[in-house]
Amino acid sequence: MTQSEFLAPSSVPVGVDPTRASIARVYDAALGGKDNYDIDREVLRQVATKAPEVADLAWSNRNFLTRAVRFLAQQAKIKQFLDCGSGLPTAENTHQIAQRVDPDTQVVYVDNDPVVIAHGQAILEENPNTHFVSADIFQPADVLNNETVREHLDFTQPLALLQVGTLHHYVADNGADLMRDYIAALPRGSFVVIAHFFDPETDELSGLARKMEDLFIHSPMGSGKFRTERQILEFVDGLEIMPPGPGKDPTLELCDYWWPDGPKLTPLNQVERCIAGVVARKP
Ligand code: SAM
Repeated sequence: MTQSEFLAPSSVPVGVDPTRASIARVYDAALGGKDNYDIDREVLRQVATKAPEVADLAWSNRNFLTRAVRFLAQQAKIKQFLDCGSGLPTAENTHQIAQRVDPDTQVVYVDNDPVVIAHGQAILEENPNTHFVSADIFQPADVLNNETVREHLDFTQPLALLQVGTLHHYVADNGADLMRDYIAALPRGSFVVIAHFFDPETDELSGLARKMEDLFIHSPMGSGKFRTERQILEFVDGLEIMPPGPGKDPTLELCDYWWPDGPKLTPLNQVERCIAGVVARKP
């Protein structure tokens, strides 16, 4: 593939390198969006050689986000959301879901992708309770001390910190320390939401998780770690985990099985068994 083939669409925003895949654009491509280039779609094509249903990782993740935000806004009465790694706008975004429950809910989105930031500015124009910050979510101090974050979120009142589809792009081993810094700043009664590429540690699926990880990490996107239940739960250490459904034990659950809207009409495929989520509360 030549570089010129990567250059569509024709109008490339300032600061975007269309010769390198971006996490946000690959995710947008998986969800069937339009804000992506061939280099981004190439990542999905590469992973699809071993996992043809790779786009389902994105859908399971996104549908989990929708239900988790609805749960927090409706059941837990959370009025402030710090959405780390917000991604490109899609059908149902955090502010739309939460502000449908209470229009005064404050939402601060954080991302560092130039295309996401451009779209974020557009959202700001139409909504006074939604704010956008350009920062590195893997530098908690930068996010937590950001002027816009401090101006619009009240850290004496419970809030929800979303890390949905983000931490698997942090490939170093000290992710739990990073999350500890975020959690330390949250007031009691706050929630943390995580969705993460998952290695279920079964004979059937561990091999698939390792293959997808290898393909993502060696693709033009460069990241995508599949962690085990123990490794993901380390990110919410010290928090009280919410049961993922009626009568269920409070622990990590496959995204599709976390408070589903109804019974799945077909069994989960192998890829859908490789993404899991958790919602936890700071006691
Ligand atoms: N949270 C959204 C969701 O679940 O639908 C989007 C998830 S998308 C897979 C991950 C997002 O995290 C992308 O928009 C990407 O730009 C952003 N991201 C990745 N690393 C980041 C970093 N170090 N700082 C800020 N944003 C980052």
